[in-house]
Amino acid sequence: MLRFDFFSPEEEIVTTLFQGLDLRFFVKRDDMIHPYISGNKWRKLKYPLQDAYQKGKTTLVTFGGAWSNHLLATACAGAKFGFQTHAFVRGEEVHNTVLTLCRTFGMQLHFVDREAYKNKELLYAQHFGEDPASYFIDEGGYSRAAAEGVSELIEELQDNYTHLFCACGTGATLAGLSLGLGSGLDTAPTAEAPALHGVPVLKGGDFIRDEVAALGITTDHITLHTDYHFGGYAKTKPELIDFIKTFTQETGILIEPTYTGKLFYAVYDLAKQGYFAPKSKILLVHTGGLTGFLGMQDKF
Ligand SMILES: *Cc1c(COP(=O)(O)O)cnc(C)c1O
Repeated sequence: MLRFDFFSPEEEIVTTLFQGLDLRFFVKRDDMIHPYISGNKWRKLKYPLQDAYQKGKTTLVTFGGAWSNHLLATACAGAKFGFQTHAFVRGEEVHNTVLTLCRTFGMQLHFVDREAYKNKELLYAQHFGEDPASYFIDEGGYSRAAAEGVSELIEELQDNYTHLFCACGTGATLAGLSLGLGSGLDTAPTAEAPALHGVPVLKGGDFIRDEVAALGITTDHITLHTDYHFGGYAKTKPELIDFIKTFTQETGILIEPTYTGKLFYAVYDLAKQGYFAPKSKILLVHTGGLTGFLGMQDKF
């Protein structure tokens, strides 16, 4: 068995940004789980890696963009748990800090043009189809097994909350939280369970519903806030950067522009608009995400 023990406390957030509101904000510090196997990626990799290990697989093969947290997490997890790692990276060959970290953890990178990248199963079959020791992990770690890993977050909660918020890329994390709340296909969450909210970081974020449903998990109890993408994936605005700077300076908790910055900003903006009933206790899942910061250093 591979050991996936970790520490992720819940902390109350105290910042002037949230002052004067009769609300309380908490953060689930999944960013503290591991410096490189960032937050939700640790949870998402847990069952796929155990499955790979039990099946005697020795090589993990995955996919991502050049600034992907998932690539870095897979590279580091491979090194930690004794797998070789390969990644198909979308687009022309580039050099950046994230890819250098991936290589340093032993990952072999294969750059593929955007057209070829679209068909991941085909890429896998062409390059690894003949290798019985290789193991496919989808882009962003998206899978039912990933959602099952994330669902365990719910059992860890130390307090009761009215709302639970996370950022969404592929939707696997949101799906996992929904599963953990007991809204798997046949059971609805109990009345005192927190309301589940997702903040898509891509434009047109309603697609997240389909991604959750595709994992066999109901979306009935999910609210999506699709207006906080700031122009799209890896796009930002000065307003978001200013918010991140203030938040980080006042709390000592680093958030970044790609995922967690948009999540925290969304909750801040909703709170200012009076979206939450007085006395609400809102928990935000800090899903980690160093690479979103590295990729946008020039904005700070
Ligand atoms: C990958 C990532 C996400 C997106 O998670 P999904 O399960 O793909 O929706 C959110 N936050 C951070 C920091 C991430 O690295």
